[in-house]
Order: sequence, then structure tokens, then C-alpha cells
Amino acid sequence: MRDRQAQAPRQDGDSGIENVISYLFYQCPMVERPRGTRDLTPEDMAKRRYVLDSIRRISDSFGFREIATPTFENAELFILRSGPDIVDQMYVFKDKKDRELALRPELTASVVRFFLAELKNYPKPLKLYYLGNCFRYERPQKGRYREFYQYGAELIGGKPLDSDAELIDLAMSVIRGVGLKNAVLRVGNIGILRKLLEESSDILACLRSISTENFDELSSLLAKNGLSDIEDTILSLAKLKGPDVLDEARNLVGDKAIEEVDYLETLGGVLKNLGMENIQYEPGMVRGLDYYTGMVFEIDCPNLGAEKQVMGGGSYSLADLLGGEPIFSTGFAFGVDRMVLALEAEDYSFPSRGLDVYVIPIGDSMREKAMGVLKTLRENGFSADMDLVGRGPSKNLDYANAVGAKKAIFAGEDEWSRNSVSVKDMESGEQTDVPIDQLIDALSK
Ligand code: AMP
Repeated sequence: MRDRQAQAPRQDGDSGIENVISYLFYQCPMVERPRGTRDLTPEDMAKRRYVLDSIRRISDSFGFREIATPTFENAELFILRSGPDIVDQMYVFKDKKDRELALRPELTASVVRFFLAELKNYPKPLKLYYLGNCFRYERPQKGRYREFYQYGAELIGGKPLDSDAELIDLAMSVIRGVGLKNAVLRVGNIGILRKLLEESSDILACLRSISTENFDELSSLLAKNGLSDIEDTILSLAKLKGPDVLDEARNLVGDKAIEEVDYLETLGGVLKNLGMENIQYEPGMVRGLDYYTGMVFEIDCPNLGAEKQVMGGGSYSLADLLGGEPIFSTGFAFGVDRMVLALEAEDYSFPSRGLDVYVIPIGDSMREKAMGVLKTLRENGFSADMDLVGRGPSKNLDYANAVGAKKAIFAGEDEWSRNSVSVKDMESGEQTDVPIDQLIDALSK
């Protein structure tokens, strides 16, 4: 604990900034991080950056283009369509002009708002992706936070089968591309349940009771709508999970939703042609957000335990619901924090983001020359740093090790008089003299 009393700020002669710093350090009460939020260390951020770089590379390779939307929106946007679970968890606040705003709990609603306002005349299909933080007032635990990071993609205005297949292919390519080995792809079609329930005036409430497995509530909702005869079918569908369950699903739903089951089978065929094995079909899958209308899918990383779902998505007609023309859309959202946790659980060896080069001047007389070397390295695209505290060579090597430098360069008077510096490979320990005019070439090899 810091001794706050003992080190109160000086009153005389302090500059303004010194006073502020003293106040923060010695007088200001320790303010804790809000529950459910995270501080990320440089190591944590390096892992996140690795995942985000992979995501961008793979999404770009599929022809998706990155966009960004605001972190807060008019609360109404989410209240309109994000589904009651998410609305209950929203951070809502009033601004100084009494407008009701919300920190975004998800990004799809924002993307569709953006699409309707500004992007709808772009050539179709529109393939968009985005990365950003989301906020939900949840019960925090490992893998479940109140501020978390999502990667999402939306494909707007394509044909259903091709779009759904393209999107699932992107999701699985991201899983493989970041290096995750243990992931289970589960695919359903919420169109099946919607078709079975189309005569009910409580479709959304019924779907919610299925998704929360509140089957007593489902039973009373069906009875209220005179649909008790389909209760057994729905209960059996909800349990149906596996690679070979589609014939059984067809038998269960009969003519009523046969096309929706067929769609799932055709989609599965396309996915298999794209190299996806072990697809788990869940014809009774319901996802949390109310706006899904067709294919729904999730990816789990079983190593994560309770919070194992790393991705969820499906096709929807949100544009229809927000007042635009009905246009086929399909999208997904990954939890980036969970992707990092899943990689850690698989002992993935993240690429090092350490420094390329650490420059060590031997003695004060060499500082200026070392700074010249540092500048040249940086200008040539190397990540490079230099001793800023005047340590001796061996302490400097310890520091270079601690920050993960790949090479250390000693700038000493002897070598310099021969127009050289000494380059040490931090991994092998090998050290060689390199002429200064060949340094960039030598380090590039
Ligand atoms: P959703 O928008 O609820 O479909 O969530 C999409 C993905 O975001 C999930 O599969 C999770 O990986 C991730 N996610 C959702 N809520 C949280 C949270 N509270 N903390 C961390 N990740 C989350």
C-alpha cells in the first residue's frame, strides 16, 4: 500500500501537472475497475492483436469489407429488435439533452441501421465485417464479461443458400485460420419451428420458451393458441441433435415444414463439398436474438467449459423489420475474448510480437551514434528500441530479453572506429560484427 500521508504533494513551486500527478498518486482514493470489465496487459493485447489480424486477413480474402459504427446508439434501435434478453442487459443512459442512448449490446442492429441509411445503394451482395466492443449487464465469470469484443460479418442481398454457405465457410475458415483445433459446428433452421408455430399469435414467446428450455411455459402457450397437438413434435425436435438426424426431423414435422428441413440438408451438402466434416444438425435450434428467420448456427469450443460458445449467427430479415425493403441477410458474431481463451486452452503458441532489435550504446559517448542507428532501423521498417536509462551492457541484455527482442546491437567505440556494430542473436547467443552500411541487409536476412 502506498503511504499517502507521508508523500503529500508539495504546495510551493509545483507546476500544475506535478500537482495533478501527485494528487492521483497520493491523495485520490484507489478507484477500482468496474465489475465485469478487463484490463489487458501487453501480452494479452498481443494475443488479441494476433486474433484480430488473422480475422482481418481471412475476412478480406473472402471479399468482406470492414466498417465501423458508433459505440452508442439511440436506445430505441436495440429496443426495437435486439430481443428482450439483450434489452434487459443494456446500459442505457440519458445525455445532456435528455436523449435516451445505449452502449451497443451487439452490432447487427447498428449495421442494418447504417445499411438502410447509407449503404443500400451499394452493389449487392454487400459483404461487411466489423470489430468492436459490446456492453451487456451480465453475471460476470470467465469468458463472460460486461464489456467484450466482437467480430461480426453480415452478407446482405445475396441468394439464401449461397449466402448461408459462404458465411458459414468464412466462420469455419476463421476458426481454422487462427489455429483453433477443437471446434464444433452446429447448424439448424429456425424456419422449421417458425413454420410449425405460424398459427400461433405468440411465436416469439414460444421460441423463447424453447430456447430457455422452459417447457411448462411452452405447453401453456401452445394450449392458449389451440396448438397442443404439436407439443410432442416440438419437444422431440428440441432434443434432436447429431450428424444424421435430418430423416427423423422430416418424419417429425411431416409436410408442414419439410422444405425447411430439405434446405438444411441441401446446405449441409454444400458445406461438405467445402470440406466441412462433422456437421452437427440441430433442427430445433433457437438462438437468443428474435430476428432470425432461417438458418441458425453456432460454433462451440468444448475446452472452454460453461461459456463455450465462440460464435452465433443466422439469417434474418431485420431490414424488413426496421422499415426497409425485405432483403435476405445472413450474419454472425464471434466473441474475440473467448477465441483467445480457447487458443490458450489448446496451448496455442501465439507468434511473438517482440521487438526486432534493441540497441545498446556502450558508454555515454556512443549514445548519439546509437540513436542514429535506431532511427535508420525504424525508418527501414524494423521495430526497434534503445536503452533510455543508461544501464550497463549486461542489464541492458536482461531488458532486451524481457521485452522479447530478437536481436541486440551493441554500438561500442571499438567497432564504430571500424565502421561496424556488433549484432547478437538473442536466441542462439551468436554475436558478429556487421559493417554499418550492411546492417539493414544483414538484419533483413
Ligand atoms: P450473441 O450476440 O449473443 O449471439 O453473441 C455472439 C458471441 O459473442 C457469443 O458466441 C460469444 O462468443 C460472445 N459473447 C456474447 N456475450 C458475451 C459476454 N458477455 N462476454 C464475452 N463474450 C460474449
